[in-house]
Amino acid sequence: MEKISTKLIGYNDCPNELGIYSSMILLKFPDFMLKENGGYYHSKNSCAVDPCLVDEILYLWSHEIHTMGCCCGHGKIEGSITVWREEDASKMIYLGYEYSNIETNEMLKGLIFKAKSIHRGVK
Ligand SMILES: [Zn+2]
Repeated sequence: MEKISTKLIGYNDCPNELGIYSSMILLKFPDFMLKENGGYYHSKNSCAVDPCLVDEILYLWSHEIHTMGCCCGHGKIEGSITVWREEDASKMIYLGYEYSNIETNEMLKGLIFKAKSIHRGVK
């Protein structure tokens, strides 16, 4: 999977606070996530991911799981990964993922999972 960030992945760069986005790594979406291939995204082709979750997101993409968002939790809250549709959720369950305890609205019910990666922040 192609990474378009010029920055090397620095696991120790991840801030120990929520709301700081300067250390995120830009990842180019795999083709299956683009609208022209049946995916969701049509006006963007990349997303920024917390350094702690880069490997895990690339792993999920390699299983053609369509992710919509993620956060490592920064040591403050549970890390989470949101997927697009029920079929993606089924693949997450198959891979041993558990549903997140994060409170959510009706629309995202059953689509948010606990990240397996542990936040490794700035010491
Ligand atoms: Zn982190």
